[in-house]
Amino acid sequence: MIHQHDAIAAFDPALWGAMVHESGYQEEHVTLIASENYASPRVLQAQASVLSNQYTAHHPNPADRIEQLALARVKQLFGAAYANVQPDSSAQANTAAYAALLNPGDTILGPSLAHGGHWADGAAASSSGRLYHVVHYGLHRQTGEIDYEQMHALARKHRPRLIVAVFSEQSRKLDFARLRAIADEVAAYLLVDIDHVVGLVAAGLYPNPVPIADIVTAGTHKTLRGPRGGVILARTNPKIEKKLDALVFPDAHGGPSMHVMAAKAVAFKEALDRSFIAYQCQVITNARAMVEIFLARGYKVVSGGTHNHMFVVDLAGKRISAKEAHLALGQAHIAVNNNAQAPCAARGIRIATPAVTTRRCKEPEVKLIAALVCDVLDRPGDESVIHHVREQVRQLCRHFPVYAEDCMPLARISRAA
Ligand SMILES: *Cc1c(COP(=O)(O)O)cnc(C)c1O
Repeated sequence: MIHQHDAIAAFDPALWGAMVHESGYQEEHVTLIASENYASPRVLQAQASVLSNQYTAHHPNPADRIEQLALARVKQLFGAAYANVQPDSSAQANTAAYAALLNPGDTILGPSLAHGGHWADGAAASSSGRLYHVVHYGLHRQTGEIDYEQMHALARKHRPRLIVAVFSEQSRKLDFARLRAIADEVAAYLLVDIDHVVGLVAAGLYPNPVPIADIVTAGTHKTLRGPRGGVILARTNPKIEKKLDALVFPDAHGGPSMHVMAAKAVAFKEALDRSFIAYQCQVITNARAMVEIFLARGYKVVSGGTHNHMFVVDLAGKRISAKEAHLALGQAHIAVNNNAQAPCAARGIRIATPAVTTRRCKEPEVKLIAALVCDVLDRPGDESVIHHVREQVRQLCRHFPVYAEDCMPLARISRAA
């Protein structure tokens, strides 16, 4: 129980002001950013609990119970024989996965950042880029999908020890069996980072790579709608399992974040509920409904459509750049990714529906949002359009709050608190 005089608001008004501002921002903006979502009040409650005080090293029993609950649920969700729910981020999960499979200097075949790869996956700036020799495969210019033939040729030429498949903007389904066949031919491991589609996989709406890949990594805070964190999944492989556990603890941290692990357990339980399948179905339906509007308004969508929660609107040949679009939409209270990495040169904005769908928006609302985005894109530099769109977005946000007013104060920070 926090008494008024112990509350942050009274103790640290500067920090509290920033928190209030962020809370207001989340309520009054529409986010179409693929990596963002809103965790449930239950997930927030677990994270704000006394579990934050606990160090597993000293209290193995209750902590064990929480970890076992999280492990059992995540294994059930993905049909995984092995899981590790301790990583604090998916970058940490990837680092451990690489170290379990590779020795420094080994060759990885992975996507370049310019083609949908993520910085954590062998990019020069990350530790994986420094430790390993990374060869990059690209994407088809037209379809934005993995160029399997090029990947196959590169695998034969470079004989990588590991092939990494990762999503950042692919709107189509990856062919995991084909990736496995390429990896097997050159005796490489296969790692799939499903950070973006993990919620769709959990709901059975996207192919599950767990039975096919050697290791699968994911974040728990994107489409899975849990706390910020990572998870490692694998089919049975005792040799890799032991290494993986040791690489997360004690290599990556001295003790896991018990409060986050509890929040993961909550999120996995939510994901096992039927309502989660309905949610993910709506995520996909909403993405398709938005694509329809962009196409009708004369915008090109990379891949021509989407099979998941996201798509890239190609702004090539339009009067507005991706960067200008990102800024103008931001002024109109609509957040999108300015995708410098869009497969068709640096002119795309990436749009995704997990967050708006959590707000309970359905086709009519997301179609309105898509139309409002088009209004802004159609008239670069037109302040009156931005003003008009912002008012409509605000109104929509009021009708579709992220957290109810009477929700626990931690979920909805009010000025009055
Ligand atoms: C977001 C993302 C990451 C990094 O996730 P963190 O949890 O922030 O470390 C890694 N890989 C992919 C494909 C991502 O989309």
